[in-house]
Amino acid sequence: DFAKSKSLAQQRQYLPIFTVRDDLLQVVRENQVIVVVGETGSGKTTQLTQYLHEDGYTSTGVVGCTQPRRVAAMSVAKRVSEEMETDLGDKVGYAIRFEDVTGPNTIIKYMTDGVLLRETLKDADLDKYRVIVMDEAHERSLNTDVLFGILKKVVARRRDFKLIITSATLNADKFSKFFGGVPIFHIPGRTFPVNIMFSKTPCEDYVEAAVKQAMTIHITSGPGDILIFMTGQEEIEATCYALAERMEQLISSSTKTVPKLEILPIYSQLPADLQAKIFQKAEEGARKCIVATNIAETSLTVDGIFYVIDTGYGKMKVDNPRMGMDALQVFPVSRATADQRAGRAGRTGPGTCYRLFTESAYQNEILPNPVPEIQRTNLGNVVLLLKSLRVENLLDFDFMDPPPQENILNSMYQLWVLGALNNVGGLTEIGWKMVEFPLDPTLAKMLLMGEQLGCLDEVLTIVSMLSVPSVFFRPKDRAEESDAAREKFFVPESDHLTLLNVYLQWKSNQYRGDWCNDHFLHVKGLRKAREVRSQLLDILKTLKIPLTSCHMEWDVVRKAICSAYFHNSARLKGVGEYVNCRNGMPCHLHPSSALYGLGYTPDYVVYHELVLTTKEYMQCVTAVDPQWLAEMGPMFFSVKETDTSLLDHKKRQKEEKTAMEEEME
Ligand code: ADP
Ligand code: MG
Repeated sequence: DFAKSKSLAQQRQYLPIFTVRDDLLQVVRENQVIVVVGETGSGKTTQLTQYLHEDGYTSTGVVGCTQPRRVAAMSVAKRVSEEMETDLGDKVGYAIRFEDVTGPNTIIKYMTDGVLLRETLKDADLDKYRVIVMDEAHERSLNTDVLFGILKKVVARRRDFKLIITSATLNADKFSKFFGGVPIFHIPGRTFPVNIMFSKTPCEDYVEAAVKQAMTIHITSGPGDILIFMTGQEEIEATCYALAERMEQLISSSTKTVPKLEILPIYSQLPADLQAKIFQKAEEGARKCIVATNIAETSLTVDGIFYVIDTGYGKMKVDNPRMGMDALQVFPVSRATADQRAGRAGRTGPGTCYRLFTESAYQNEILPNPVPEIQRTNLGNVVLLLKSLRVENLLDFDFMDPPPQENILNSMYQLWVLGALNNVGGLTEIGWKMVEFPLDPTLAKMLLMGEQLGCLDEVLTIVSMLSVPSVFFRPKDRAEESDAAREKFFVPESDHLTLLNVYLQWKSNQYRGDWCNDHFLHVKGLRKAREVRSQLLDILKTLKIPLTSCHMEWDVVRKAICSAYFHNSARLKGVGEYVNCRNGMPCHLHPSSALYGLGYTPDYVVYHELVLTTKEYMQCVTAVDPQWLAEMGPMFFSVKETDTSLLDHKKRQKEEKTAMEEEME
């Protein structure tokens, strides 16, 4: 009701940060760097930038605000543009990878930390910015951590530049120390007690448990919205589906009228218009039930939540040395994260948090704090970026928490095999080109191989399709129909070529939306791919790389695909069962793959990524000729599981050389 009855200006004045506005601006005036700490929902993200604007900082530059998550950047920019009564993209805008909604008038710019990081490549001193707010620093995303080191240098070089780091209570001291003991400004909190209920026994199926709990709350508890934490899109969809089903059963079996339950999913790949729905008030007499990933922990604040259901799990990107690559894996969350989740129930009034795990697990089994991303992920992109910023020795870079040396060496080894680094760890010509693309090193490599092999046009489309969420639409109630539609696009032995085929057919149907609907394809995803394609094409143009085509000679394209995935090649072991060529890790063909129903299985394949669900599934697979793999790197078939570092490789090279010399003699 608050949101409806009060104007936006009144709502702004009601936020906790408003009570300390003038003090805060005073501290900003007196210091070059400060840390701001406040509870989620106190107004840091939406208000700080506006205060800085009101205090005159935007007359000499842009106020930038970084977010670890793209959804947050978009949603907050939209909110602030409404509060400032300007069109989104005018005075207030946002930029995320492949999507820049800013203009010449933009004075407040929200962006992902990755976008700002890439901007430092073009302008090391970030001259267009007067102030940077590094928001949600406590999340310790990989890019935020690298930015810390880079911005510290900018602060030293530019006296006119200000840096504000905002954080939930966690880590504030550490941030302050990193910049030499800068002031920490606390925003007084306004929170209510949250009653914590633990599960008596460990629960086996937390989707089912969460659905049951939500239904119980809905039927027996007083008003207030529900927030459920799940780990990812698939689970969220399953939960929403089960909730809807349960509601239907209830309505048909009950003689009384059952109050409405508005079931709202939120995850990063959800289209923006659906995301915005979580902020809208439920209709009269209805209750909202938001089913979210960890995005709702701190990045997005929804008012009116009285009940939190916490599965105790979240997805994290980890570099699995056995796989030699990043994979999203489900982990128990830390105690700090569980507490943060519980806190979401106490923003508007006293609330309750139902934890679907035991008190003993909370006390004894889970980590006190989350592990920073930089210590657990593949650093390929970071290494490329820092190398191009002429940081020669990565072990010397000013990291707040340096990544394990082994991680750095692993990533360097991978870049070396991709041809991005030379034998002494410097960028090669290909490496310099790869930095230009806002892509993972593998996809950048694929593009550049497309150039070499004369099939850039085809590869460009594949890379664009791989950069957007899956375009295949598979509604649960029409699964068979949609699977049949999908099969029509199959190019034998290749999911990558299948993606290319989808795009080409869409193109020859004049990029029509109704054609997509008829073929069970997400039109938004395809449009996005088209946009990504045109942006990548612009970069290719500036690099003066011509768009060559092999006129769909599949084998040529397949070879370019193969070149990018040296570390993701697998050989057949049993029916539908493969093992990674490099380390023997098992990996399985997914039933949705174009290779699944062939009637035979190719001996060698490469895959885009590995997804861990019930099994290790290869996502997006292409059959390849083992000869190509051998051509691309004779060494890599012999690489054993343990020696994947550059050093080990050098040692091995030496050993091989010695062996050869001995033989010659
Ligand atoms: P903090 O960054 O301190 O967590 P925010 O500035 O994000 O706080 O949020 C302040 C208030 O603005 C919250 O009460 C939140 O509900 C509201 N708000 C933020 N984003 C939106 C949005 N996109 N739509 C509606 N309300 C929003
Ligand atoms: Mg915030």
